Amino acid sequence: MYCNYCGKVIQDDAAVCAYCGVRIGASLARKRLMRPRHGRKIAGVCLGFAEYFDVDVTVVRLVWLITSFMTGIGLISYPIAWIVMPEEPLLLTAPVGVQRATNP
Ligand SMILES: [Zn+2]
Repeated sequence: MYCNYCGKVIQDDAAVCAYCGVRIGASLARKRLMRPRHGRKIAGVCLGFAEYFDVDVTVVRLVWLITSFMTGIGLISYPIAWIVMPEEPLLLTAPVGVQRATNP
């Protein structure tokens, strides 16, 4: 993988360029369609779409409900999205002792 900013060769799984410090993984990680664990109503499908397209979750839920009643597409696509969309990984916080040890 090459850094888009300075053009130097960097590690494939690197989130930050070791040469210029530009974040590489940030834009990639943000564009993943998944179901968040917090703030969901049923399975987090609408919330996942809202975060992905950067729109209000209420708008997504309303559109989804309206299309469910009008056409039935929403009714069929919800369980499909529930199965297909991965769940947001658990956010693991680093133990306090580890951070203290690195700081003198
Ligand atoms: Zn760079």
